[in-house]
Amino acid sequence: MNTAAIVLLTAILTTAICMVAVFIWNRYHGSKRNKRVMKVIEQVRAERIESQRILAVLELGILAYGSDEHLLTANRMARFMLKEIPEVFLEFCQKYGSENGIHASVLLGNNNVNGIYTAGDRFYRITIQKQRLGSSGNRRYGHIVMVLDITAQENEEKRRKEFVANVSHELKTPLTTIKSWSESLLDWGIDEKDSTGIKADVQRIYDDSMRMDQLVSDLLLLSSIDSRGVYVDFQPIDLDSIARSVTERLIPQAEDQDQKLSFTRLGKIPMIYGDRAAIERILTNLIVNAIKYTHDGGQISVYANSLIDEVYVKVADNGKGIRQEFQEEIFKRFFRLDPTGSRQYGGTGLGLPIVRELTNLHRGRIELQSEIGEGCEFMVFIPTLNKVRRDILFDLIAGNIIDDPCGQAAEREIRTFLTRNGDIDWPPRLTGNDCEIILKKMDENMNPG
Ligand code: ADP
Repeated sequence: MNTAAIVLLTAILTTAICMVAVFIWNRYHGSKRNKRVMKVIEQVRAERIESQRILAVLELGILAYGSDEHLLTANRMARFMLKEIPEVFLEFCQKYGSENGIHASVLLGNNNVNGIYTAGDRFYRITIQKQRLGSSGNRRYGHIVMVLDITAQENEEKRRKEFVANVSHELKTPLTTIKSWSESLLDWGIDEKDSTGIKADVQRIYDDSMRMDQLVSDLLLLSSIDSRGVYVDFQPIDLDSIARSVTERLIPQAEDQDQKLSFTRLGKIPMIYGDRAAIERILTNLIVNAIKYTHDGGQISVYANSLIDEVYVKVADNGKGIRQEFQEEIFKRFFRLDPTGSRQYGGTGLGLPIVRELTNLHRGRIELQSEIGEGCEFMVFIPTLNKVRRDILFDLIAGNIIDDPCGQAAEREIRTFLTRNGDIDWPPRLTGNDCEIILKKMDENMNPG
C-alpha cells in the first residue's frame, strides 16, 4: 500500500471513529438531558398534586380567579360550601355578594373585601383579596377568594344575645314590681294603709326578691356547670334511698294541693357514681314541677328501677301533659309553656335545663313521655357504678383521657384499688379478662358476702 492510500485510509478511519464517538456522546448527553427534563416535569407534577391535596383537605374554601377574570381553581371545600361556582369573577361577586356589600365594594376598587353570605341555616364569611400574579414586576392581578364556615360562631353569638336578653327580662319583671310596690308604700301607703295592707305589700316585695334570688342562684349554678367549675363530689351512692327521702320531704307540699305523692321501688337498684346534692336537685326539680303543673287532687308517682346497665327514676303525674312539639323545647333555658303561670309558682324556666345538665354530668340522660291531658313521665337514666368502672377501665387501657368528673371519680377509685393490690402500672396494662376480674373484686369489696 502506498503512502497516499495509507493516509486516506487513516483519515476515513479517524472520521468514522469521530462520528461514532460524537454519536455515542450525543446519545449519552441527550438521554441525560431528557432525564433532567423528565425529572423537572415529574417534580412540577408532584408539587402540583401536593398543593392540590393540601387545598383539598383545608377546612377553608379557596378559589382563584386569574387576570382575565376566569376561574383558575376551586378546592373541594369551596365547591361543597357554595355548591355553584361561577366561571367569571364578577358573576361570583354578583351571586354571593349582592346583599352583603361585597359586589359594591369590589366595583369601587377595594383590594380587600369581606362579608357574610347566608345559605339556609349556614353562615359563610367570604373574603376577597386582589393579588398580583407571578413575579413582583408583573402588572397582572387576579383575585383570591376565601370562604369560611362561621355557622357555629354565629349561632353561639345568637344564643349569647338571647340569653342576655332573657336574663335582663327575667330580672326586670320582679324588679319593676319591687320598685312600684315600695314607691307606693313610701308615697302614701305607710301613712294611709292599715298594718294588714302594709304587711301584704311588704310580702309582695319579699316574694319578688325571693324570685330574683332563686333566678340568680339558678343562673350561677348553670354558669358554673357550663364553665366546668361546679363542685361535684362523686361517690358510690344509692339512688333508691335518695329518691325515697326526696319524695317524702315533698309530701307536705303535694298535700297542700290535695295531691297524692308516692314512691315505689320496682326492683333491685344497683349503686351509681353520683353527687348526692346534684341527684337531690334533679329529683326535687322534677317532683316540684309535677306538683306545680298538676291540678289539685292529682296523683304523682315516683318509681325507681334498673335496666341492664342503668338505673332510672321515673316521675309520673296525671296533670295537663306537654304537647309533642314542646317536649324538646322545655329543656331549653327560659322556655315555659305558660310564662305567667310559671312565674306565679316562682318558676325561673331554668329548672329542666339544670336537670339535664346535672344528669349529663352523671353520664346519664333524661327522657320525657307525655300525651296532652294525660300527664307527663320524666325518666332520669344513670349508668350503674359497674358500667362506669368498666367503661373507664377500657378507656384507660385504650389510652383515652378521662375528662368528666364522674369518669375521673371512677378512675381515682380504680387506681387506688390497683395500687392497694400491688399493681403499679399506670395506665394499667390489662387484658379484657383482667378487667372482668378487677370489676368483680371491686364489687365484692363494696358488697362483702
Ligand atoms: P319552670 O321554672 O317554669 O318550672 P322548668 O324548666 O322547670 O321551668 O320547666 C319548663 C316548663 O316545662 C314549665 O314552665 C312548664 O311549662 C313545663 N313543665 C315542666 N314540668 C311539667 C310537668 N310535669 N307538667 C306539665 N308541664 C311541665
